[in-house]
Amino acid sequence: MENEVEAADQLTIHLENSLGFFEDRRGVTLAGFLITEKEPQIGGVKIALQREWRNIVHSDDVKIAWASPNVYIITVASAVLAKKLMEKGPWHVHDDVFSIQPWPSNCALAEIHPNKATYWIQAHGIPLGMMTGRNALLIGGRIGTVIGIEDPAINGTRSFLRMRIEIDTTKPLQLGFWLPRGNGGRSWINLRYEGLRRFCFRCGRLGHANFLGKPCVYSLCPVVVREELKYGVGLAVRPTRGPSPLFPIKHPRNTIFSLMVTEEVPGKRSDAEGDYDRPEPVPRQSAVSFRPAGRNREEYRQCRPRAVGWGTTRCFGSQ
Ligand SMILES: [Zn+2]
Repeated sequence: MENEVEAADQLTIHLENSLGFFEDRRGVTLAGFLITEKEPQIGGVKIALQREWRNIVHSDDVKIAWASPNVYIITVASAVLAKKLMEKGPWHVHDDVFSIQPWPSNCALAEIHPNKATYWIQAHGIPLGMMTGRNALLIGGRIGTVIGIEDPAINGTRSFLRMRIEIDTTKPLQLGFWLPRGNGGRSWINLRYEGLRRFCFRCGRLGHANFLGKPCVYSLCPVVVREELKYGVGLAVRPTRGPSPLFPIKHPRNTIFSLMVTEEVPGKRSDAEGDYDRPEPVPRQSAVSFRPAGRNREEYRQCRPRAVGWGTTRCFGSQ
């Protein structure tokens, strides 16, 4: 027995642990996960991310290193820059979502859940009397992990509820839900994902598309099949920012939302209500991308606004 304990001791090494956000002379270390089935060249990943982040961080202040297939170590010069990268997004590499998460000092890289992505999600079709922050929390909790919400009572009323949600990318995207109404009736509430790009129109998962040459092999969501729901480009909307233009109010400080909406430019935000209620003639869409077919990638990127928010992580050891 003593020999066994001795042998176990020989295989155990107690290492020192730095607490809190891991920052050293090199900067802050983050974990990046590309949600896709195929693995692009590291050079292409770096170029795509530097282009995505060009308005946030200078290319000299960020280092991207390959760790394992579709897992990257991101080192940025300061905690301020790290926070910016995590608050904004979703980021993309070749239309696949690139998720950034903190790398807690008490976690190994392999212990961070890679299959997470954070989106602002809109719920359309909710009666005015039900447009409350409490209901936004309730809906968000059924979709994924709630990172933040817009509370209409604080932030102003839109035509939809808006929640920042961390979703599990191994599961199909949720299309909506039934809302029971009076007299035994019900109405369908549509969900819209801000900044959503490539996903499978068959199974509704991120990271692949349903090609003729390479059809999707994933299982279909039984609810989607039973309700005869369809995935399509309508699930994606442009990111919106700031409070409602109808009832603009000053952001109270120290609220979740005030922390998120740090870069609102009055009069310049994208009007998602307008996109939803008055759909323009939709340009022909690529089967795997929401970039209109007639426009080049750079032109599309320049005109595409981005959502504001922050990413999270949850390692096995910190739950
Ligand atoms: Zn699929």
